[in-house]
Amino acid sequence: MNLKFKIYNLQLRHVFRIARGEESIAPIVIVELHHDGIIGYGEAAPSSRYGESVETVVKFYHKINLAKFNSPFETDSIMNYLNSISNGDTSAKCGIDLAIHDWIGKKLNISLSNYFGFDRSKLATSSFTIGMDSPEMLFKKIKEADDYPILKIKLGSENDEETIKLIRKITDKPLCVDANEGWKDKNLALERIKFLEDKNILFVEQPMPANQIKDTEWLREKSNLPLIADENVLSLSDIAQIANAFDGINIKLMKCTGIREAMRMIHTAQGLNLKIMMGCMIESSIAISAGAQLLPILNYPDLDGNVLITNDPFDGLINKNGNLLISNRPGLGVEPNEKYNSTPYLK
Ligand code: MG
Repeated sequence: MNLKFKIYNLQLRHVFRIARGEESIAPIVIVELHHDGIIGYGEAAPSSRYGESVETVVKFYHKINLAKFNSPFETDSIMNYLNSISNGDTSAKCGIDLAIHDWIGKKLNISLSNYFGFDRSKLATSSFTIGMDSPEMLFKKIKEADDYPILKIKLGSENDEETIKLIRKITDKPLCVDANEGWKDKNLALERIKFLEDKNILFVEQPMPANQIKDTEWLREKSNLPLIADENVLSLSDIAQIANAFDGINIKLMKCTGIREAMRMIHTAQGLNLKIMMGCMIESSIAISAGAQLLPILNYPDLDGNVLITNDPFDGLINKNGNLLISNRPGLGVEPNEKYNSTPYLK
């Protein structure tokens, strides 16, 4: 097995603001796994929230050696080996996991969805994320998102109530709210949730900081809106301890090291009666298509990272009014385009 890498700068359609900061370019690392005449593609979209950057991803890739494995079919052993190298580096590990699953699908000539035996007849619609912005820009972005039936709004600032009131003047679409740990006081969090309760809100994601789990349990008891854990749940071992504080979990491939871990998390969460949301970072079609392959078992897909960018290096996934249409191609269902092909490999 041979690995090759490229660094690719995803250009954002708009400057993206959340409670933690803002960005206009999102650099990712694209992984190629070459074996037996087949190339599996994977993507690492690192987040500074979890201590990663393209530099840490590349450093991790330079540390690993997959020569001791016979083929990507040894997924379990390969991922256990990657996890033995470090505790973090989750997006770097995800890049390898996605490449492995793409390779396996191509080798067997089936999509990942078929590989898992999913029923693709009933699929939830993905939400479309609107970052924080000035009233003028919010108005413009919501108009641009006219085709998307469910919007996800970033809150967690001083102006939350004004933001919602403004949005409700423009649209009555169902909204998902993400506070990104922005409400630091439980009484303030409850006040905000009470304000949201009659505003056609589907759920509130990560209302409070991840280290305030007792406050979040208190909040959940008093809240009539479902609470979804994001920053509180990175991987499988986090789920049991948050089951009393939340109604669902937001799984992100980049946080949990990829599809293998995501499947284990989904089964565990379902066993604890938790709903399954799948979110994303700013990502290309490689990682978004990987998430879309799991759509039949998701309650709340939030897989819009590739429509927030203007230079997607891969083709094959279509987001039609929030409905994610995967191609019939095997594996993750995507193929590199000219933008990818003209990007040089990293030494
Ligand atoms: Mg979130």
